[in-house]
Amino acid sequence: MDLNYNAEERAFQDKVRSFMKEKLPKALSEKVRLGGELTKADMEQWHALLNDNGMLAQNWPKEFGGAEWNAVQRHIYEEEAALANAPRIVPFGLSMLAPVLQNFGSQEQCDHWLPRILDGSDWWCQGYSEPGAGSDLASLKTRAVREGDHYIVNGQKTWTTLGQHANMIFCLVRTDPDVKQQLGISFLLIDMNTLGIEVRPIILLDGTAEVNEVWFTDVKVPVENLVGEENKGWTYAKYLLTHERTNIAGVGSSNAGLEAVKRMAKAEMSGGRPLIENPHFAARIAQVEIDLMAMALSNLRIVSQAAKGGAPGLEASMLKVKGTIIRQEINDLARRAVGTYALPFASEAVEGTNEAPFGPDYAGPVAADYFNNRKLSIFGGSNEVQREIIAKTTLGAMR
Ligand SMILES: Cc1cc2nc3c(=O)[nH]c(=O)nc-3n(C[C@H](O)[C@H](O)[C@H](O)COP(=O)(O)OP(=O)(O)OC[C@H]3O[C@@H](n4cnc5c(N)ncnc54)[C@H](O)[C@@H]3O)c2cc1C
Repeated sequence: MDLNYNAEERAFQDKVRSFMKEKLPKALSEKVRLGGELTKADMEQWHALLNDNGMLAQNWPKEFGGAEWNAVQRHIYEEEAALANAPRIVPFGLSMLAPVLQNFGSQEQCDHWLPRILDGSDWWCQGYSEPGAGSDLASLKTRAVREGDHYIVNGQKTWTTLGQHANMIFCLVRTDPDVKQQLGISFLLIDMNTLGIEVRPIILLDGTAEVNEVWFTDVKVPVENLVGEENKGWTYAKYLLTHERTNIAGVGSSNAGLEAVKRMAKAEMSGGRPLIENPHFAARIAQVEIDLMAMALSNLRIVSQAAKGGAPGLEASMLKVKGTIIRQEINDLARRAVGTYALPFASEAVEGTNEAPFGPDYAGPVAADYFNNRKLSIFGGSNEVQREIIAKTTLGAMR
């Protein structure tokens, strides 16, 4: 297997690198580098810049206005974006809902919603989880009852990421309570400005409010906002989750995070020598680097297979588990590298301040990142549950 990029791939890499150099606003990349909290305007600015330059809908088919990049091209983008400290692309409309609409939505839904995802007219959020329906998602209770040409929705979603910015939410709702759980779920598109919807922020351990509760009281949703068939939502929901899990592998972020840890470990001293020369620390860096390289190759292999034959299944769970372990290990190494500077929780380092930092600038967000990324092994299906899926599938196949 030739692991070097060929001439065409190198040309593509140059194109992405030039784009990052010329178009990524300095203020934005500096904010990302220092772990600052991005505003809605920041994220929208980056979304628009990518769209204007044909780099947004990377895996969408051309017929829907996508770039149809192959797995290597997407990998190159991830690498370059992370190294340039570009913001993460907000995934909810673009890489979660869009594949569902393209595969299961009607022509009218595709014509209406897909261009609006691209031009940023709509900000989508994901209404899957509920109190009591996280890992056991199929037990969700938010109810949608058909009345004429509307559904009436009642219930509560939770952990809705960036729901405070969203004007649209895609929701799993129960349309038939009298059948096996999985067979009574539907996939609805709901306008967040409809009467009866309330968004309540949840303040996290790191002081940010990136997740919310969303409450529905007698919310009227037009029937044309049903995706696919009524009571077939579980199929669409699972299809979406495999896309969510592959994206969670986060190879680009881990590469950039590892480079940052190495820079910190060269600057920080331990026993009169740079920390990077400490054998124990160096061994941990080497181990995570090896794991990351192995995962990057698996990621490429799996994503390119998926491009040929639909969504990855079991492999998405494997990437999710491995990718999140690696990112959390990198966060832990960063915390150890900056030592006591990671002890105070400096919310001002995340929110932005004119005050001088209490340590080197790279130390400011280390504690906040460490805490915030505890989420990685929980969302998108917890790692424990992913391990169970892997075990059941592989052991089942051996029988
Ligand atoms: C920061 C953050 C953002 C999120 N964003 C969104 C979002 O935008 N939209 C959305 O719909 N959801 C979102 N989620 C919700 C997320 O998908 C759920 O938190 C996740 O599915 C786990 O569900 P739970 O929190 O209810 O935990 P539970 O399901 O109650 O699990 C609790 C613990 O028990 C373990 N466990 C549960 N079942 C098993 C089992 N069968 N075997 C072994 N261990 C098990 C779990 O691994 C976990 O450690 C987000 C979560 C977080 C933390």
